[in-house]
Amino acid sequence: MKKTRVRFAPSPTGALHIGGLRTALYNYLLARQTGGTMILRIEDTDQGRFVPGAEAYIAEALQWAGIQIDEGVGPGGPFGPYRQSERRSIYQEHAQQLINQGHAYYAFDSEDDLEAMRQRLKAAGADDQQYGVGTRLQMVNSLTLPPAEVASRLASGTPYVIRFKVPENKSVVVQDLIRGEVVVSSNQVDDKVLMKSDGMPTYHLANVVDDHLMQISHVIRGEEWLPSAPIHVLLYEAFGWTETMPRFAHLPLLLKPDGHGKLSKRDADQLGFPIFPLNWKDPRTGEVATGYREAGYLPEALINFLAFLGWNPGTEQEIFSMQELVKAFAIERIGKAGTRFDIHKAQWFNQHYLRSKSTQELSHWLLADLKNAGTIVSEEIAQQISDVLRDRITFPSDLFKLGRFFIERPLEYDQQVFSKKWNKDAVAVLSAFADSLPSVNPYTAEPIKATFEQTAANLGVKPGQVLQVLRVSVTGQASGPDLMKSMEILGRDETIERIRTCIRSTPLPG
Ligand code: GLU
Repeated sequence: MKKTRVRFAPSPTGALHIGGLRTALYNYLLARQTGGTMILRIEDTDQGRFVPGAEAYIAEALQWAGIQIDEGVGPGGPFGPYRQSERRSIYQEHAQQLINQGHAYYAFDSEDDLEAMRQRLKAAGADDQQYGVGTRLQMVNSLTLPPAEVASRLASGTPYVIRFKVPENKSVVVQDLIRGEVVVSSNQVDDKVLMKSDGMPTYHLANVVDDHLMQISHVIRGEEWLPSAPIHVLLYEAFGWTETMPRFAHLPLLLKPDGHGKLSKRDADQLGFPIFPLNWKDPRTGEVATGYREAGYLPEALINFLAFLGWNPGTEQEIFSMQELVKAFAIERIGKAGTRFDIHKAQWFNQHYLRSKSTQELSHWLLADLKNAGTIVSEEIAQQISDVLRDRITFPSDLFKLGRFFIERPLEYDQQVFSKKWNKDAVAVLSAFADSLPSVNPYTAEPIKATFEQTAANLGVKPGQVLQVLRVSVTGQASGPDLMKSMEILGRDETIERIRTCIRSTPLPG
């Protein structure tokens, strides 16, 4: 059995899409599970689509997500270089080999020639207008030109491409670990360009040559590459590499939240969730797209969420650390059907992982946000606030949003509550409660609560009737964390001051 060597092979054409991160993750899980190697290869042969900064972005996104690269761009390794633009001569040699063996040919057709071919076929009612089995002998290429003419064109620097000579009438069998056997007739495959006129290989040639030379055991990639797989299989056959051909696994598409169609950046923008792992500033437009990291998702939550977009463990367990995923992952348990992208599930995972953080970690987020807002509080207070908010937050930034009232006195009071519940009884209870707070001892949640209930009872009022008014007087808001605990954190003097200020500034209706 061949050693597991998998590669993540993005093209640096922009930010990494969240689906790309899932592809990287599944490759990584298989590598770790089998003691294999995770390789990062940069497929940058399409010069027209190259975007500066994209490669560094991809590396940073993988690192943030905890997907370690063992070999490739970055750490290096014995099969380099790992950037395809630096491997030009390798592809040229391999293309030459295919030409020599009759599996490829030079084509000199101009854009006009190609267009004329398409028009001709269209007029003749052909279903598809591809350059291939049915048309190659009517075109300007080394199959139709006399050898001397070909030689002279090559010698004089006439632009050309190298095309794959797809064999006729063959059943091409793609064995896919997720989809089973996919069979296509070679007559449906066109004579793909392998080398472009700029001397760069196309994706197909570079991908196959590199997967072979880098001894890749499994090609795990998105479903959008499934139509390319038959071409790749034919190339492995042409090179005589079928014995060591990698095993394929084409991952299911990520679908829009409503399940209709592929998830796009536009959908994500419209629905208000990130599509990229990290912030991405588009160098062409200057537009900044918010990433999962900056939106407050924890890497472990995003990983857990992504793992379940296509794979499931076959049990009820949903919470998996990276280590647990490594153990449980199995390509056989990846479904074929597209998976609906549900951001609420990502938030659910985030809540889970956030809640399990230590109070100290939570408080550091809060302290940083407070500092940005120009407020300094002690670490001890920040920890108390973080603890009382722990169960109410989805993102670290919620600590500041929900905990602001601890630091800033209310500037206004929830009017819905006051219009219904601000009455004589309420004022009487609040006033008496403020008066009795100085003698609460110790000044902690339990005795504060007992005092409040006693005060209300003494005045013949049910505590439940005035509890929300008390909350609004102290916090300004109709809902929030445990009120008694909040008053404890606020401190005795501050609590009394807030209640009194509220009574003073809020006239009774009528
Ligand atoms: N460069 C391709 C991409 O950008 C890689 C596809 C593959 O893994 O074969 O996704």
